[in-house]
Amino acid sequence: MPTGFLFHERYLWHDTRSAAGFVPAGGFAEPDRHVENPDTKRRLRNLLEVSGLLDRLVRLPPRLATEDELLRFHTRAHVERVKKLSAENGGDAGVLTPFGPGSHEIALLSAGGTLAAVDAVLDGRVRNAYALVRPPGHHAEADQGMGFCLYGNIAVAVKHARAQRGLARVAVVDWDVHHGNGTESAFYGDPSVLTISLHQDNYFPPGRGKLEDAGDGAGRGYNLNLPLPPGSGHGAYEAAFARVVAPALRRFRPELIVVACGFDGGAMDPLGRMLATSGTYRSMTRTLLDVAGELCDGRLVLSHEGGYSTAHVPFCGLAVIEELTGFQTEVVDPFLEFFANVGGQGLQPHQDALIRAAQAHLDAIR
Ligand code: ZN
Repeated sequence: MPTGFLFHERYLWHDTRSAAGFVPAGGFAEPDRHVENPDTKRRLRNLLEVSGLLDRLVRLPPRLATEDELLRFHTRAHVERVKKLSAENGGDAGVLTPFGPGSHEIALLSAGGTLAAVDAVLDGRVRNAYALVRPPGHHAEADQGMGFCLYGNIAVAVKHARAQRGLARVAVVDWDVHHGNGTESAFYGDPSVLTISLHQDNYFPPGRGKLEDAGDGAGRGYNLNLPLPPGSGHGAYEAAFARVVAPALRRFRPELIVVACGFDGGAMDPLGRMLATSGTYRSMTRTLLDVAGELCDGRLVLSHEGGYSTAHVPFCGLAVIEELTGFQTEVVDPFLEFFANVGGQGLQPHQDALIRAAQAHLDAIR
């Protein structure tokens, strides 16, 4: 069965306004381009086309998420506020989430894109799927946008899979360099959704993503945080997947695995302080494909999140989608030879200690 690919030009028209990196411009912060802009997404899609891989993918059209679908996670007040500002001249959806006119509809298309990719996989039209959506979603909380995310694309799609498609157990693996706080919040008390986030220790949002934040009530044990030390590279991510992520999924036995696919753990990322390479993303994808093949007929959906290196992200994304399809293009990642063997790329003792501490949480998953 083929791999699905979902994209829409409209995703690139979401306007994040001028900024200084990721903070609002103004005062002593000279206006510059916002770090979350269309470039990495456009260039990933372009490389898919130029490499020929796009021709091997089944194109999936996105749709608009409905208000009822959004309201399974978000408060009506949040949706109404974004909708109103979007119809005027834009504004901020909450914390560090600037947007221009029309972004409400683009965010509906982004959440609806992740929904459509999930439906395509559940319907058996494709085995797995990559949704190259924008704006991203994993930081959005029920009552406010956060960290460039207006609506929780994955939270909304997973709630749809549970409520509308009757799935009993869904797992979310978030390898974006920032903590998947919105997805965590959406399912914190819910044992039917296992949320796993690998992220740079105490980065964004500040204070979130601690190892001891393991879920609440009936959901206790079903939220797994791996706050990796800054500087973690291929060895740390591989060890975390082999020793924590894959065993957690095997214990949980999901019917669908959804990935919050950010590439800001990459070695060239301007926001992250990690060392992942395209080989790292390839390896993590391979592990999830193996586990999904064992547990849930290979049902795996990736939804695009962060990643801000315009030069590096396309090669990381291509590696992931090559693995999904099982087809190797002739493209050689020109950055791989530079980063594969830099100092600290292997598993370091302090990273090993964190992974060992996370392994102690596996017993709680039943
Ligand atoms: Zn991120």
